[in-house]
Parts: sequence; structure tokens; C-alpha cells
Amino acid sequence: SESQINFKDYIRVIPDFPQPGIRFKDITTLLKDGPAYRAAIEEMRKAVEHLKIDVVAGPEARGFVIGAPLALALGVGFAPIRKSGKLPGETIEASYDLEYGKDVLAMHKDSIQPGQRVLIADDLLATGGTIATSINLIRQLGGEIVGSAFLIELSYLTGREKLGDIDVVSLVTY
Ligand code: IMP
Repeated sequence: SESQINFKDYIRVIPDFPQPGIRFKDITTLLKDGPAYRAAIEEMRKAVEHLKIDVVAGPEARGFVIGAPLALALGVGFAPIRKSGKLPGETIEASYDLEYGKDVLAMHKDSIQPGQRVLIADDLLATGGTIATSINLIRQLGGEIVGSAFLIELSYLTGREKLGDIDVVSLVTY
């Protein structure tokens, strides 16, 4: 049955990408397999359905590949979190520091209504920088973050600590 799929078998690890010493977790090998992709989304749906989610929010680009089908499976809407300058309407922004420089993420002001119950979704939780910034944006809009869901969690990078007491669901841990 679907739940017996070992998702780790579908993830390709590429050494020294994008720089020496990084072991990059490549999910394209899971995405191209229809039954594995569907089973992953279904497993995430089952793990979060009790949270009474109103809307799923996910950061570009791989957060869309996980968040949008998860929203569809839950029967709720999807709110995109994008790099600055991409969204056409009125936005709010938040920045975070990268190793060299910083990155700015944005959301449409009307993408979440105050009081809505929001699930954050992404492909991978690493240092948690992306998710901490996403949390900042959603809270600025008055959203209540009721959980987070990831295909992969890199537990040695302790991104989970940035999530405080927010529920974390991950299908595969390294
Ligand atoms: P964080 O902000 O450090 O938690 O990094 C998470 C973000 O970086 C996610 O949006 C991922 O898409 C991306 N990322 C970091 N490491 C990897 C990897 O090994 N494989 C795929 N994506 C990665």
C-alpha cells in the first residue's frame, strides 16, 4: 500500500552541490514518480488534517511543489511566499541573512485573513531561515500558524528550534 513507500529511496543525494562539502537532497527523483509523489502528499495530508487548516503557505519554488498539491488535497487555498519583486499586488516583506548577503521574501497583503489557521509547507527544513521569515510574514498578516510540513528535515541543522512550539511534520529525516 501507499504507506509502505520508503520515501528516502526516492531522494537522490548529490555530493558537493551547490558547493564543496554540501550533500544536496534532490527531490526531483521523487517528483517524477507519480505514485511516490502522490503518496508523499497523501501522507502529509493525513498527518496535518486534524489541524483544521484554512490555508497553506509555501515559499518559492519547491515550497510550491509541496504546498500547492497539499492544499488541493486538504481542500483549502494556497498562499505563495515569493522573492521580493515578483508579486503584482500590495505586499509585505521580511528579510533574512544568508551566508553572504540577504534575501527578501514577500506575500500579498490579502493572501491571508486575520485569524486564519495557516500551515507552512516546504520541501526541506535546513537551518530554518526560510521558515522563520515565512512565519514572520504570516504573523504580520494576522495568520495563526498551526503547523508546518516538510518532505525532508536535516536534523543536524536544528532548523526545528526556529519553529518554537509549532508542530513539525517531516517524512524523511537525515
Ligand atoms: P533553510 O532556510 O536553511 O531552512 O533552507 C531551506 C531552504 O533551502 C528550502 O527552501 C530548500 O528548498 C533549500 N535547501 C537547502 N538545502 C537543500 C537541499 O539539500 N536540497 C534541496 N533544497 C535545499
